[in-house]
Amino acid sequence: MKQFSFQINSELKNTKARAGKITTPHGEIQTPAFITVGTAATVKALTPEQVTSVGSQAVLANTYHLYLRPGEKIVKKAGGLHEFMHWSGPMFTDSGGFQVFSLGEAFGKGISKVATGEAMRSSVNERMSQAKKAKISDEGVTFYSHIDGSKHELNPEKSMQIQHSLGADIIFAFDECTSPMAQRDYQEIALDRTHTWAQKSLTEHQKLNAEQSKYQALYGVVQGGQFKDLREHSAETLGAMEFDGFGIGGSFTKDDIATAVNWVTEKLPKEKPRHLLGMGEVIDLFEGIEAGIDTFDCVSPTRIARNGTVYTKNGRVSLTNAKFATQFEPIEEDCQCYTCQNYTSAYVHHLLKAQEMLSATLLSIHNLYFVTHLVDLIRESIENDSFYRLKKDFLSSYYRK
Ligand SMILES: [Zn+2]
Repeated sequence: MKQFSFQINSELKNTKARAGKITTPHGEIQTPAFITVGTAATVKALTPEQVTSVGSQAVLANTYHLYLRPGEKIVKKAGGLHEFMHWSGPMFTDSGGFQVFSLGEAFGKGISKVATGEAMRSSVNERMSQAKKAKISDEGVTFYSHIDGSKHELNPEKSMQIQHSLGADIIFAFDECTSPMAQRDYQEIALDRTHTWAQKSLTEHQKLNAEQSKYQALYGVVQGGQFKDLREHSAETLGAMEFDGFGIGGSFTKDDIATAVNWVTEKLPKEKPRHLLGMGEVIDLFEGIEAGIDTFDCVSPTRIARNGTVYTKNGRVSLTNAKFATQFEPIEEDCQCYTCQNYTSAYVHHLLKAQEMLSATLLSIHNLYFVTHLVDLIRESIENDSFYRLKKDFLSSYYRK
């Protein structure tokens, strides 16, 4: 009754890059693929039809947010996430682990998936209102809701029960996402705990899957911080378990994402899909895919859109800049997205200045189209052996090197 499979169709010579297909009960995902983030069972500012129109094949929602609001019981009563949010394609949910730690335990420590000055500052600011910390033990995590301060517990079994109630096609084992700043001795303790939780997640998941007609696929989450031997140990330990695929979790230092991913993909079973959690900058996409990543998710395209920033072939641009007030051309002349086909930069600049909601919609459409389309191009370049030409041309223009 297994309704999940992964098939590799082409591989790029002398690299780990591959193009293939993930099959789920709600359809196929051509890989590599960018998975659109729909945190609270909605891709912010877009209808599911608009999400489909930009080329998104699948959506990832956050267990932590949906558990707190509206609660998994309500989603289950609605018939599961697909029915509830009117999305008929493949869906992922994360384990809830990252948000529990980033909104709780990491308060004041600046946890982020990537250690950069900017991320550290914004993460500390975001958490200034979080007066109480999450508490971690081998049994699980006690944390306080960022919405109303109420106390909650999350553990591997409960994460699985929530994710089964939500009903996504691909779900993740409960893991401890450590800060990139954490010392080695703490990373070791956290990694042992992540491995114990992985087995507990798997056991509970298999029990729940046997009780339902729909098959949900479970990915184990590789951790280990910036330490090569810990990352390898994690990949080997989880790789030997009966997971359907693997997530690669934070934490990284910004320059080392590709290196750390390579350590892990070297050890993971080749025939199972790999998802890089929460990473999707242009450079990460090229280097992640080259290192054997099949799927990505990242909030950046929609988050920066709401601030008026767009991706272009020449890098990120802020449309709030005064020079756009009279630029009566599309954001990108040759972009085939709905926004560029129908609107000018001057119009979107006006919407941003007037704080009109439509700006978020139009810019999210452009940014999601940009990232999704880029990964489509990378997939084609693996199939027709032009990956390195695309990578060189695209990166030199995007980063103006
Ligand atoms: Zn566009």
